[in-house]
Amino acid sequence: MQTIGLIGGMSWQSSAEYYRVLNELVREKLGGLHSARCLLYSVDFAEIEQLQTTGAWEEAGHLLAAAGQSLEDAGADFLLLCTNTMHKVADAIEAAVSIPLVHIADVAAEAVRGTGVTRVGLLGTAFTMEQSFYRDRLARHGLEVVVPSATDRMVVHRIIYEELCMGVIREESREAHRAIIDRLVAAGAEGVVLGCTELELLVRADDAPVPVFATTRLHAAAAVDLALASRAEGHLELVETPPESEVAAQLLARYYEELNARFPGGFDVDRTVAAPSAELRPPSGSFLTVRLDGRAIGCGAVRKLDETTAEIKRMWIDPAVRGRGVGRRLLAALESAAARLGCRLVRLDTSSHLPEALGLYRSTGYSEILPYNDNCYAHHWLEKSLG
Ligand code: GLU
Repeated sequence: MQTIGLIGGMSWQSSAEYYRVLNELVREKLGGLHSARCLLYSVDFAEIEQLQTTGAWEEAGHLLAAAGQSLEDAGADFLLLCTNTMHKVADAIEAAVSIPLVHIADVAAEAVRGTGVTRVGLLGTAFTMEQSFYRDRLARHGLEVVVPSATDRMVVHRIIYEELCMGVIREESREAHRAIIDRLVAAGAEGVVLGCTELELLVRADDAPVPVFATTRLHAAAAVDLALASRAEGHLELVETPPESEVAAQLLARYYEELNARFPGGFDVDRTVAAPSAELRPPSGSFLTVRLDGRAIGCGAVRKLDETTAEIKRMWIDPAVRGRGVGRRLLAALESAAARLGCRLVRLDTSSHLPEALGLYRSTGYSEILPYNDNCYAHHWLEKSLG
């Protein structure tokens, strides 16, 4: 089981819920006395709230990035930021660590998409409902987002900070939310995302006539899946590796071999877009190998296309360890590497003969763009903003 790093305390009321749900789910899956291996860095929420209301997001980003680094240093394998609102500074955290951050909006969007809902109502703090960082992230997964009226938004925001974050649960506030959800449904919402980690302390599934997506529970469940996915795998590491090394050459050879077997007309590396080794090492790029108990089982690279855009290349995981979240971790690590190179945007191309790769990109926030190269093997060109 991997160690989950929680950046919490925003507020502690919902972090306590995370802790409970994580432990319950691990016990459900492993039985007996099993519980979640996790580390919690809990901040003083008064400081964070002050930074929010004064718009000092950069400072908040530094503070939470430092918390993320502490968790990584303490042995966390990946991070959860236990608040929707503070995902506004998710990129600052991701840039400061080399372990993945499981983005709460990606998890929520995947759950919504899984039910076939495409137009979803969003409840949360005013920051979450009104600013683009969260809505756009949901929209990237193909969701249309409906938010409450200005008056309703004020009500939800007030209840979050003045009641739920203080541990106060009021029946009249639940009633108010029922009415607000009804208005969202009347405006076309086919489901409702509780995009604030305290809201599920108040609003339940039976408060809404449409499916309710509770982000704390979903986020915690995604973390447990990820933490347990690698339980049979041993120790997984992502290692910066010289692209011309023997191990890189072996992994790339296996990658090309697989493409050759899966593409109807085969694969010839000389016909694809070149990625010279020199471009795959700092400062213009990075080549990562995935090691399982020291054994190389995958690779991926990133290279700068220009000052702010990076391209992900040569991502491959040994088929024997697929389906356990390893590719997702590698992708997140490559995105972090791109951010460290100073890039804000990542691009990649892929083939429709690799549907699982396309599924991974779509479920982690990539959206289709027009072709940006003439790779004869590509059918899809995708892009994701890192900030
Ligand atoms: N926990 C809340 C959220 O999920 C609000 C508190 C905060 O501003 O972080 O957005």
